[in-house]
Amino acid sequence: MGQQVTVQQMWIGDARVAGPGGRTRDAVNPATGETIGAFAWGDRESAEAAIHAAAAAFPAWSARPAVERGRLLRRVAALLRDRSETLARLMTRENGKVIAESRVEVEAAAAHFDWYADQAPSVYGRTVPPTVPGKRHVVIHQPMGVVAAITPWNFPLMLWARKVAPALAAGCTVVCKPATATMLTTMAGFECCADAGLTGGLANLVTGPASDAAEAFIASDAVRKITFTGSTEVGADLASRAAGTMKRLSLELGGHAPALVLADADLELAARQVAAGKLRNAGQSCIAVNRVYVEAPVADPFIERLCDEMSAYKVADGLDEDAGIGTLINREGLDKVLAHIDDAVRHGARLRCGGRQLTDGGRDRGCFVSPAVLTDVHDGMRCMREETFGPVLPVVVVNDRAEAVRRANASPYGLAAYLFTRDLGAAFEVGEALEAGTVAVNDSVPSTTIAPFGGLKMSGIGRECGREGIEAFLETKHLSILLGES
Ligand code: NAP
Repeated sequence: MGQQVTVQQMWIGDARVAGPGGRTRDAVNPATGETIGAFAWGDRESAEAAIHAAAAAFPAWSARPAVERGRLLRRVAALLRDRSETLARLMTRENGKVIAESRVEVEAAAAHFDWYADQAPSVYGRTVPPTVPGKRHVVIHQPMGVVAAITPWNFPLMLWARKVAPALAAGCTVVCKPATATMLTTMAGFECCADAGLTGGLANLVTGPASDAAEAFIASDAVRKITFTGSTEVGADLASRAAGTMKRLSLELGGHAPALVLADADLELAARQVAAGKLRNAGQSCIAVNRVYVEAPVADPFIERLCDEMSAYKVADGLDEDAGIGTLINREGLDKVLAHIDDAVRHGARLRCGGRQLTDGGRDRGCFVSPAVLTDVHDGMRCMREETFGPVLPVVVVNDRAEAVRRANASPYGLAAYLFTRDLGAAFEVGEALEAGTVAVNDSVPSTTIAPFGGLKMSGIGRECGREGIEAFLETKHLSILLGES
């Protein structure tokens, strides 16, 4: 039996708040089925109360010198680091990812708070030379107001930090509705905000049915921006419902990332990086490699190396320090993975390794799958059209790089793409031709606090991280001043 986690409450204004009628939800470890704790279960009124608290806190917070806001954010970063091991273990027990990845994620969340602490004081405006005598034109940037943030379960601290840190740095106040499946982890991260002094409505956290929170956010005049990370389906629904009020939106949505392996690539490196780019969080990452296009002359040796790499990952409870991948988040995720493999095989694909549910050795209560490589796939198969969100990698052999680029771009998604080559010219030419918000060359970890991240096409609207991450919470205003009539 694992250690019990205390029942957690929502944070609204200055108070920890219970769910209406004392309602709670259990948090469950997806690797074992064990209940690891519980949290308050809110409703639409909880979200409305949080919006009210955030709106009341906004004038004073936005007027505070940016360096002071930055100081508080830096305190959050320090607390996240102090509590790193506790947070990481909780994340693994609630999400299923391997403990090493959870530790990296806590550090990434802390890095977001540090980076935006530094960005807060450098929100500069500009003056524009007038075209008419006696006039002055000044451009300033101001915080938007109350921000509503909806976050997913696959990176429950990092993606929460990506929204909350820059919004607070910009001078906005925040109401966050984290994913239900990993609520305890985000709540534990949120405690660091509260303990750093970001209370009194500056940062609020609500739970409950997502549709209740979303309705409250959309209906409220006080909420000036909704920032959402999750599925394209929910993002598109939010966009259409928010259109009537012209609420600002940032949408970080689904992906279907291609990896292109050119004939001149370092095949060892490509196989290692493609496997890592596929198997982070057991394939449940928006930028996970989802399809590979390899040039014909190197296809056989590459596929052989890829199968070796994928098969070398130990599939186990994420708390096992040797685990390479952990359980999938739930049965629905497992069913989708197995359905994609089944669909491909029924339509002529060859399963080259893995692809089986694993139930032995204590794995019977989770959703463990051995990493799969599929060849002889074609574009009509589900795994070639949909985000699998699991450890399945279809590989397509192409004649040349032009075909690779054309097929990589033939998708409604455009979040990330990967390219393996030793040719600098190809890195630029193919990198510029690929329709993705991020192109990683010879690398499987392109995502970083310091550079913009976001999607083209159905993968979203707007950018997080980097300078763009704080700009997403600022409005631009032109002050036009006539000094005196001549
Ligand atoms: P999801 O079902 O869309 O859920 C994401 C968040 O939205 C959760 O907090 C969820 O709450 C909430 N939600 C669910 N239905 C809603 C509704 N009708 N209105 C408003 N909010 C609603 O996505 P997921 O399964 O958690 O995450 C996986 C997806 O996210 C994948 O497609 C992945 O690619 C994408 N993703 C994108 C990025 C990126 O940066 N582009 C990063 C990570 C993940 P509940 O948990 O209470 O249902």
